[in-house]
Amino acid sequence: MTIGHWIDGQPVTPSGEGAQPVYNPATGEVIARLGLGTQADVDRGVASALAASARWAQVPVGKRAAVLFRFRELLVESTDALAALVSREHGKVVSDARGEIARGLEVVEFACGVPQLLQGAFSDQAATDIDVYSVREPLGVVVGITPFNFPVMVPLWMSPVAIATGNAFILKPSERDPSASLFLAELWQRAGLPDGVFTVLQGDKTVVDGLLHHPDVAAVSFVGSTPVARYIHATASANGKRVQALGGAKNHGVVLADADLDDAVNHLVAAAYGAAGERCMALPVVLVEESVAEVLVEKLAHRAKDIRVTAGDQPGADMGPVITPAAKERIERIITSAQEQGATLVVDGRGYVVEGYENGFFVGPTLIDHVAVTQEVYREEIFGPVLDVLRVGGLDEAIAIINANPYGNGTAVFTSSGEAARTFRRSVHVGMIGVNVPIPVPVAWHSFGGWKDSLFGESHVYGPEGITFYTRGKVVTERWPHRAAPVAAPAFHFSGDAQK
Ligand code: NAD
Repeated sequence: MTIGHWIDGQPVTPSGEGAQPVYNPATGEVIARLGLGTQADVDRGVASALAASARWAQVPVGKRAAVLFRFRELLVESTDALAALVSREHGKVVSDARGEIARGLEVVEFACGVPQLLQGAFSDQAATDIDVYSVREPLGVVVGITPFNFPVMVPLWMSPVAIATGNAFILKPSERDPSASLFLAELWQRAGLPDGVFTVLQGDKTVVDGLLHHPDVAAVSFVGSTPVARYIHATASANGKRVQALGGAKNHGVVLADADLDDAVNHLVAAAYGAAGERCMALPVVLVEESVAEVLVEKLAHRAKDIRVTAGDQPGADMGPVITPAAKERIERIITSAQEQGATLVVDGRGYVVEGYENGFFVGPTLIDHVAVTQEVYREEIFGPVLDVLRVGGLDEAIAIINANPYGNGTAVFTSSGEAARTFRRSVHVGMIGVNVPIPVPVAWHSFGGWKDSLFGESHVYGPEGITFYTRGKVVTERWPHRAAPVAAPAFHFSGDAQK
């Protein structure tokens, strides 16, 4: 099977000559081939989206919202089928795939409120006989370039808000798990979205570059690794486009001595090993106060060994494989480097074999103690099931380590002290903070975004900042002269008098 584009409401075969394998990471089998797009495909997709955007922007906002409501219902009905598809191509366990759909659904529900979100502001009689009002209008064609780790949630961070506000949206999904994008395209069509308002272009850097340089693309949303985020931000900005580019992460969980350790361990295990650590909001680093470090490591090790690793669709699976053979090889190499550089390997997930899935890309849960900030295992974003433990003297040292790290996506503190928690949240240079909450992904009516190398551009995604990102302001100053009254000569020079 060859996976292709979705243009003008129908599947289109990519015109590129190459095709890339799409794996089932649990079995190691190639289950499909991804056709790669070309500049000609980009031109075709953008032309279709541009024509559709002009018409869609004229559709009354309530009617646009009605499409969002229908899309929401279809997404709920399709959750099982979509979760199975995500699990098959990504490898995450089905319950986790359902979880990502649920988080995406929240953004759809937020976008259903678009009539109110776009209400604007009105100042009656701002000056004599003059009213002033502000509205926000769509940008036209906007693009979303998304990563492999959330093939449904990340496109749904962007597309419902972009579409509800009156834009046409082009999705360039990851090459690794591209099928969910076409599933979403069909749902949008069944929901009544006009053809061309949601487009999917499959491919690699060729397609991305085609979009970044295309004169009819107004804005770019990107989520992926930091080097690519930096490139996307620089290139799209240089081409005069609005851009938000979310990058990688290395999130720290801080465990203070007064924390409820069992509660913290429950959360840390789920946040470090869930989805095999392939989450930008995972907690791959624990900074623990020295006095409770031994007992914490012992509890973590016990739990890590208990995790059931197998194919994501198997009953009772806690954790599936990583995405590709290359990812497995890289993660195992970094674990080896930790040992070589002096850290203590407490639980070793290298060479992990799952019975019945011997060719799958599995890495077992890995726990590494006595990690130092100079070691590769700390400095690299591993994006695998590897948890580093660093022992610290107290809260101040933990905050200093977090603030010295180049990333600033999320962080969490585990404590029973309100004072410590308050100091923590006010002092860390990080965009999303959890207090006894390990993965503080904001609900859809707040916005999501990191600091430092985790986000390039000013705007966070979805929520109020998403509405602002996908629209531009227009302010109207309006006066209707009284016909019956003599018309006063307009002021020759602008002095502000006319508005008094
Ligand atoms: P990636 O950067 O390799 O790919 C992301 C997208 O960029 C894909 O669509 C890919 O086709 C495209 N791309 C890749 N290389 C490119 C290049 N050289 N030029 C142009 N386009 C290119 O990321 P990934 O491996 O798919 O996803 C994992 C990364 O995403 C991790 O670093 C993770 O932290 C990050 N991520 C961040 C967030 C966040 O909210 N900050 C959320 C999810 C994932």
